[in-house]
Amino acid sequence: MKTLRRLVLPVTLLACAGTLAAEVKPVLVIHGGAGVVRAEMTSEVERDVKAALTRAIEAGRSELEAGKPALDAVTKAIVVLEDDPNFNAARGAVFTHDGRNELDASIMDGAAQRAGAVAGVTTVRNPITLARAIMERSKHVMMVGSGAEAFAKTVGITLVDPAYFHTERRWQQLQKTLAEEKAGAALSDYETSRHFGTVGAVALDRTGKLAAGTSTGGMNNKRHGRVGDSPIIGAGTWADERCAVSATGWGEFYIRTAAAHSICTRHALLKEPIAKAAVEVINNQIPRLGGDGGAIALDRDGNIAMPFNTDGMFRAWLDRNGAVHVAIYADESAGTP
Ligand code: ASP
Repeated sequence: MKTLRRLVLPVTLLACAGTLAAEVKPVLVIHGGAGVVRAEMTSEVERDVKAALTRAIEAGRSELEAGKPALDAVTKAIVVLEDDPNFNAARGAVFTHDGRNELDASIMDGAAQRAGAVAGVTTVRNPITLARAIMERSKHVMMVGSGAEAFAKTVGITLVDPAYFHTERRWQQLQKTLAEEKAGAALSDYETSRHFGTVGAVALDRTGKLAAGTSTGGMNNKRHGRVGDSPIIGAGTWADERCAVSATGWGEFYIRTAAAHSICTRHALLKEPIAKAAVEVINNQIPRLGGDGGAIALDRDGNIAMPFNTDGMFRAWLDRNGAVHVAIYADESAGTP
């Protein structure tokens, strides 16, 4: 009898653990930047952006539903957005002051706390895939410029002519800013470099693991060599066992507050719900310093937060019940499905 009990108990515990593990419902949240200026939006742009966000969510969702890791969902969703010229990442990236597209990206695997990041590349078609290759196929976490591009070549990442990233809309955006600067317009750094459109994703997979990733062209009219928060692990991107974040906004302030890491640390150590932790950093700490923007955050129970303090943040999410939501402005949803 004793032996039987000894056998039955562990088997029952194992069965329970198995049931619990199987109960994790995948969740995916993506953003396409918080630099939405409502007065400048047209219904065509809104329609195109929502269609692209839906495509990206579906790309990530099929990974999660096939039982693939959160990292795969994050990568797939971001590649869709990088390829879409409506967003400030890869094709459609903003221009530097001297007319180049310099791209940054990072990715983080929450369970293993592994990370990869790339900054200032000009020929990598999908910088998020290079960030992932740096994480998985090099001994490093971060690589920049020509060294990162040389590594990309050795691991078979697709390289393109820099002209591939050029879009007329972004070029005109730079020309307008340069003309305003020349006319001596008293614009703040923020005004000259508005229109964030960075893309990012956070995911929770069926095994309960989290991942986060972010990709960007940075800020319009940035100086050659400027690096924002997006490729900085802990600033623009963070994932650990309990929490995953991808940020978008005025990068300098996100670096100064270690924004993505701060959100997860508040959640873990102060035991703040993810929504409270995210709001504290994004809507209180960053604006207090003079910055703005938004973020998406996800905890291991599938709770979502999407705070922003701009006119809007392009965003979409697959909730725990398998429903997909897409939104741009604050009045479109309560933020928590
Ligand atoms: N955070 C990005 C940067 O500063 C910009 C953005 O989110 O749109 O490079």
